[in-house]
Parts: sequence; C-alpha cells; structure tokens
Amino acid sequence: MPVSDEAREGAGALRLRALREVETDYLVVGAGASGMAFADTLVAHTDAEVVLVDRRHRPGGHWLDAYPFVRLHQPSAYYGVESRPLGNDRIDEHGANAGFYERASADEICDYYARVLDEQLLPTGRVRFSGMSEYRGGSGDGHVLGSLLDGSETLVRPRRGIVDATYVQSEIPSRHVPGFAIEPGVTLVPPNGLVDLASPADRFTVIGAGKTAIDTCVWLLESGVDPDRIRWIRGRDPWQFDRTFTQPLELIGGYMRLQARWVEIAAAAENGRDFARRLEDAGMFVRVDPATEPLAFRGATVSRREIDALRMIQHIVRARRVRRIGRTTVTTDVGDVPGGPREVYVDCTAAGVPAAAPRPVFEPGRITIQYVAVGFLPWCAATIAFVESAGLADEEKNRLCPPAVFSGDTADLTRLAYAAMQGLVARVRHETVGPWNAVSRLNPARGALDRIDDADVAESLAFMIEHTREALENLERRASEPPT
Ligand SMILES: Cc1cc2nc3c(=O)[nH]c(=O)nc-3n(C[C@H](O)[C@H](O)[C@H](O)COP(=O)(O)OP(=O)(O)OC[C@H]3O[C@@H](n4cnc5c(N)ncnc54)[C@H](O)[C@@H]3O)c2cc1C
Repeated sequence: MPVSDEAREGAGALRLRALREVETDYLVVGAGASGMAFADTLVAHTDAEVVLVDRRHRPGGHWLDAYPFVRLHQPSAYYGVESRPLGNDRIDEHGANAGFYERASADEICDYYARVLDEQLLPTGRVRFSGMSEYRGGSGDGHVLGSLLDGSETLVRPRRGIVDATYVQSEIPSRHVPGFAIEPGVTLVPPNGLVDLASPADRFTVIGAGKTAIDTCVWLLESGVDPDRIRWIRGRDPWQFDRTFTQPLELIGGYMRLQARWVEIAAAAENGRDFARRLEDAGMFVRVDPATEPLAFRGATVSRREIDALRMIQHIVRARRVRRIGRTTVTTDVGDVPGGPREVYVDCTAAGVPAAAPRPVFEPGRITIQYVAVGFLPWCAATIAFVESAGLADEEKNRLCPPAVFSGDTADLTRLAYAAMQGLVARVRHETVGPWNAVSRLNPARGALDRIDDADVAESLAFMIEHTREALENLERRASEPPT
C-alpha cells in the first residue's frame, strides 16, 4: 500500500528521511558534546535551521557507551550546553570528590543530552535530528546521509555549510579494538566488563596510562580490591591538573590562581617540559609516580585523594606496548611478564582524546569543531558557534578561534598554550564575543567578576592583565622552536 503524504509528514527523523532531499542552513555531523553545544548556542543566537545527524540513535556521543563508573573529570557546572544547567551546582561532601563541585555520571549526561534535544532544541522548530544516520561525504552540491536502518540515502543541501562535530571525537574502550594479540582462554575486558565478570579474579592487570586506566584503578581500589592484586602496565605517564584548580563559582579563586600562574609560567618557560615542571612546582600539575617524569598531557584532572590511592598500587610494569597476552605470559616491548589463569586484563588503551591534525576552524562552507582552549570541549564548541553567529569574515573568525591542538605530548605544551592564550585574549577583547564569553555557563571562569572581592580573584586578574603580553611573547618564541 502506498504511504500517504500525511504519514510521510510524521515527526522528526522520519520526515527527514522521507523527503530524500533536505535544505537547511547548517548540517551538523555528530551529536556528542561538540555537536550539541554548537547547535544549542547557534540556535540561541541566530534564526538558523540545523539538521543534526549521528550514527548513534540518540545524542550524547561516547557517553552512551561509557564504562558505568565513569564521571566527568571536570565539574558538571560548566559541562553540556549553554541553555540548560547540568546537575545542581552541589559541592560533594563524601567520597573521592569531597569538597569539589559534583561531577556527572554517564547516565546523568545521557539523560541530560536527551532532554536538551527534546526540551530545548526540537521545540524551536528549527532543529531536526536524525539518529542512525551516517554521514557518507559530499561537497558544495550536497551531502549524503545513509540510514543505518534501511540503507536509504538523503541528500542534505546546507545553505551555510557543514559542521564537522566528529573531528576530536573520543576513542573509547568499549568500541576499541586492542592493538595486541590475545590467546584463547585469556580474560580481556574493557572497563565496562568489570561490572559483569563471570567469576572473581586472582589479579587485575590494567593496561594503559591515561584517564581511563586511572579511573579503573581508582574504582577497583574503592570497590575494595587489595592494591597488591592490581598490576598496572603503563608507558608514558600523563601530567594532570590538580582538581582543586578547576573549580568554578564559590571555589573559583583556585581556578583564577591557576590562570595567573599559567600566565606567569608562560612568560618564563623554556619549553613544554619546563612549563609542566614549573606547574608542578606551583602545585597545579600532579603525577602519579614521583620518580617518573610524565611525557604526556591530555588536559585531564585528578584529585590528590585519587593520586594517594593510585600510589598504593606497587606492581607497575613500565611498558609502552603490550604485544600479546598469553595464558601464562604477557609479551611487551620491554620483555615478558608472567600471566595467570584467573587473571583479568582490563584494556584501557583507547586514545580517549586522540591527536587531531591542525586545520582551520572556519573554511568556506565548513566548520570543524576543535579545542580552542586547553580542554573544556563544550565551551570550545559553543564559542565556535557564537563566533559563527556574529556574522564576521572567515579570517576574523579564525583569528578569534585558533585551534589548540592536543598532540598528547608534553613537549608541545608551549604550542598548545600559545594558541589557546592567543585565542582567549582575542575573544575577551572582542566587543561582541567578550561579553558573551564572560557570562556563558560553559566558561569555567564565569562569575569571576562577580567575586572580585575574593583576593584570589582580584590579584589573579590584576596579574594577568599586567603579564599576558610577556607570556604571549615568550610562548610565540618558544612555540616556533623545534621540540626538545
Ligand atoms: C571518559 C571521558 C571523560 C571525559 N571527560 C571530559 C570532561 O570532563 N570535560 C571535557 O571537556 N572533556 C571530557 N572528555 C573529552 C571528551 O572528548 C568530550 O567531553 C566530549 O564528550 C567529546 O564529544 P565529541 O562530540 O567531540 O565526541 P563524541 O562524544 O565521540 O561524539 C561524536 C559523535 O559523532 C558521531 N559520528 C562520528 N562519525 C560520524 C559519521 N560519519 N556520521 C554520523 N555520525 C558520526 C558518533 O556516533 C558520535 O556520537 C572526556 C572524554 C572521555 C573519553
């Protein structure tokens, strides 16, 4: 029976598919934190229409497949989208996060993004969402989306351009294929699998050095596993921010002190590694192993309590690559280590925030969402949307949003800091972008000016105003030198 026109006029995604050819202002590919923050700010500040597509069935991106004990590593207070708060701005009183602003779990984040779509974006009548739709490529003439359900294709013609909100997408354990061989009979799980073990383990071997491995080790310890029954295979340790200095609102004094110290160190650092060491001397960067200098930096945060817990794990294997896990032996780039029959291996080797090649944020007909600050992706995506809404030429938009490229390497810290500081200074001084930035809920420094009677805030701001030029001059010089 032919489908009536009325049936084709059904809600949201169905209507998009039935039309086969769709016109809109912006086609946003990816409905994770980047695409959602971008779309939310764009529709709030323009009258643009947006088609938002994702391979997944609903918004939220990697959080939909995250391990169950994951939390944001920053406070919820400045994560998500501009138009809707996430959480209640509560300061936790118990547990590893005591004394800090609450950090949302994956369930809260997924529910949040569903509500943002259903209660904020779709009701504008200017946003259409198509889940289970894969972007297959295109050009100025149109872009092809393929349905992962029935294989049908839709041509989208965006009048203003395509927005790539997949460029810095997260690589997560549950969707990651390990880069090593596994002998049959070995139990290897992503962190997600730890809550579903068939039988208790003699020992856990956690593989990976990044935030996921840290979360996994902390969770095992908090769940009562004896530290002696945890072995940790990790290569390059990461520098991490002490979470004390990433707190907003009532605790913003610490964040402002970090900003002032950052400027002071930027004015003096000789290279990326020196930059990191000076931040450690200032108490703002932390490392797990006091005897090993971290060579990686991805912008994550950790609390001192977590660091203390992690230091209880004594069995560390300093290998950068696991090559093969056998039933009795694990082969690594630094030799073999023993395995055991009831050993559970936890694969935490997915890149998390993978390195992306630099590319301009604004190009004709294309916007590529990237970091334009040191971390805090939703703030970056909303900033890019606001700058887009301001009706400026591409050259000016790119001046306001130079990409801060995370290579993952500490040696690149001066380059990263230079791009981020240059962009921030340009935005803060801009007559339209500056006032928006000061009040955006995604800006970690929001509300600093309302707390100017806090000595930390006042002194830090005064210091930054006086020394930012010196910092930029030194960073520019250092950033152009080859990494040591
Ligand atoms: C465990 C963890 C914790 C983190 N905590 C924080 C934090 O506290 N603060 C912070 O700022 N950052 C944090 N990050 C960094 C993180 O990268 C961002 O917060 C953010 O969630 C990433 O969002 P995204 O939209 O860029 O990528 P993703 O969440 O990966 O979303 C990209 C989306 O694009 C879709 N997609 C990809 N290709 C296509 C295609 N061809 N067609 C259609 N759809 C496509 C995918 O299905 C996906 O849904 C964390 C990362 C991890 C892994």
